[in-house]
Amino acid sequence: MRSVMIGIFSWVVAAGAAELEVQVRLQDYANVPAVWLTKAKWVAAGILENAGVRLLWIHCSPNFAGPDALCDVPAGPIDLHVRVLSKKMARLVDTSSNSMGYAMLAGRFPSIASVFYHRAVDLEAGRFGARGEILGGILAHEIGHLLLAEHRHSRTGILQAEWGDEDLRMIAVGRLWFTPVQAARLVSRARERVRAQQSLEKFQKQSLLRAGRELPGELGRKRLN
Ligand SMILES: [Zn+2]
Repeated sequence: MRSVMIGIFSWVVAAGAAELEVQVRLQDYANVPAVWLTKAKWVAAGILENAGVRLLWIHCSPNFAGPDALCDVPAGPIDLHVRVLSKKMARLVDTSSNSMGYAMLAGRFPSIASVFYHRAVDLEAGRFGARGEILGGILAHEIGHLLLAEHRHSRTGILQAEWGDEDLRMIAVGRLWFTPVQAARLVSRARERVRAQQSLEKFQKQSLLRAGRELPGELGRKRLN
């Protein structure tokens, strides 16, 4: 019941903040079946949207037939890089058996996180919900760490250090959210990113305009010589 109440409250928090969007460049190294990956993205986006932040997924997987052109655009403050790792790859970067993923927190706007697909499969076994929903919950958890720029966990909600059976049941029905306090901070931090992105784009545009003005002059001088 408490989680349901948190969900309703954070939906109210989300109202008016839905214009905030961050872009997630997703690289799937675990070859997750499309049906599960699609479900996972949908679930993760729903959890973040509930907190007031919209996710735009960009497909940058190395084995993807048609990677998005946006994958080649230099990343800015609103861009996150999230990798789905196989069990073998996860073992190389994390020796503990119960981690679900990790976020690298560096700089003002941390951007790199990994999630472990095999943990979604493990948690699904004999419990509640399908691996797609659980993978979506893991994605939302690590994206939450990136946006909040901290490793801190909470006693309730999607940012708990570990999920129990009841939490997995809530994930299966799409009702394990960020807490209202976390949602408010997510919105605040996402807004900082959007503003920084706008400043960066304004600077780049001005630089291009300056370069454009100088170019004819340069050419003119060469012609005169
Ligand atoms: Zn965590």
